[in-house]
Amino acid sequence: MSDLLIRGGTVVTSASLGLADIAVTDGRISAVGTNLRVNATQEIDASGLHIFPGGIDSHVHFNEPGRTEWETIASGSAALAAGGYTTFVDMPLNNLPVTTDGTAFDRKLEAAKSSSVVDFGFWGGLVPGNLDQLAELANRGVLGFKAFMCPSGIEEFPACDEGTLREGMKRIAQLDSILLVHAEDPAKLTTPKGATARDFLESRPREAELSAVHDAITWAREAGCRLHIVHVSTAEGMGLIQEADGVDVSGETCPHYLLYAEDDLERLGGLGKCTPPFRTRADREGLWAMIADGSLPMVVSDHSPSSLDLKSGDDFSKIWGGISGCQSTRQLLLAQDRLDLSVVAAITATNVARRFGLSQKGDVAVGFDADLWLVDLSHGDIVRREDLLCRNPFSAHEGQPIRGRTVRTMVRGRTVVEEGRPAPGSAGRLLTRKI
Ligand SMILES: [Zn+2]
Repeated sequence: MSDLLIRGGTVVTSASLGLADIAVTDGRISAVGTNLRVNATQEIDASGLHIFPGGIDSHVHFNEPGRTEWETIASGSAALAAGGYTTFVDMPLNNLPVTTDGTAFDRKLEAAKSSSVVDFGFWGGLVPGNLDQLAELANRGVLGFKAFMCPSGIEEFPACDEGTLREGMKRIAQLDSILLVHAEDPAKLTTPKGATARDFLESRPREAELSAVHDAITWAREAGCRLHIVHVSTAEGMGLIQEADGVDVSGETCPHYLLYAEDDLERLGGLGKCTPPFRTRADREGLWAMIADGSLPMVVSDHSPSSLDLKSGDDFSKIWGGISGCQSTRQLLLAQDRLDLSVVAAITATNVARRFGLSQKGDVAVGFDADLWLVDLSHGDIVRREDLLCRNPFSAHEGQPIRGRTVRTMVRGRTVVEEGRPAPGSAGRLLTRKI
């Protein structure tokens, strides 16, 4: 006897697409197949709908504890679930205290356990001075570590100098973990010459990314450390990652680098400010091509919200850098209609789970957690402020086309969003990397 039988949906996995029924027992998928003969307590008719593995957003800043006026775990995770996501991994900033020791981890876990709608993991921070705290973070189960090669925008989370980064890589390799880096070379960044968006773009050239990606790969190879470059903005940078030999390195990009180019920044103003900034149209097209041919394995939101007042002002250099957008990643990608549905499942779930060791997540197959997105793909719309569930409902993506109406999002077989609205009583679990 199963708990749940979902009948007649089109199941989308990274490997296939086809009509199938799904049985769920004790929160896990217990059978997948056509015309399943299974008795179940509850049955859902999914005919006409597509069923994706629940999305995994491994790059969000939910800011709790400490900066809950920008975002909270409750609102951020509800926004994710409304967009078909069932797992997030939170960055070690911009919450306060930053997640650079075990005590800070414990505080974030307390906050998340009581309020997250979906399952979650944490990245620990690598900063100057916390090398001796990396092991305690690993013991608590961080999925890996995050470091900045340039200033992070938050005083409490300073950039790593070369020495810290290289020693950190050695320790992280010993812990059998992975280091994520924000790769922009501070030596190639300049102070903006003026107050315009164009001045900002010129202050953060593509060479800064290429140089930092190159250095990070070189040092990770020497240290034998697994490496992941976050929010890669140039096709060339992604090429360096793809071609690297003798090192286990991967990269990700974000919807904003796939939807916008430099020219769009003047139109979007402060809402579109992020680092690295938007690049050329050729980069944008290059990144799409790399997704399609399988050489760019994941697209994550880098949801980096703030209050609206911080996203405007006369001096572009003083505006908060960060794009709020975690609710829409999948629907934005689907609306572009440039990728096979299986590729969308891969880059938003399966590949993320595999890279970061979430062995129960990211696929619709027997034994996996029943994390599912039931979506009506015949439905198109645009991103509207009034539909956003995050703490500060605004986004650079407002007005962009989206595809797919969320009929139901399920975490381990429990419905957490129904017809776009959160269901009460949801509780996410911590996902750990045990050593
Ligand atoms: Zn980020």
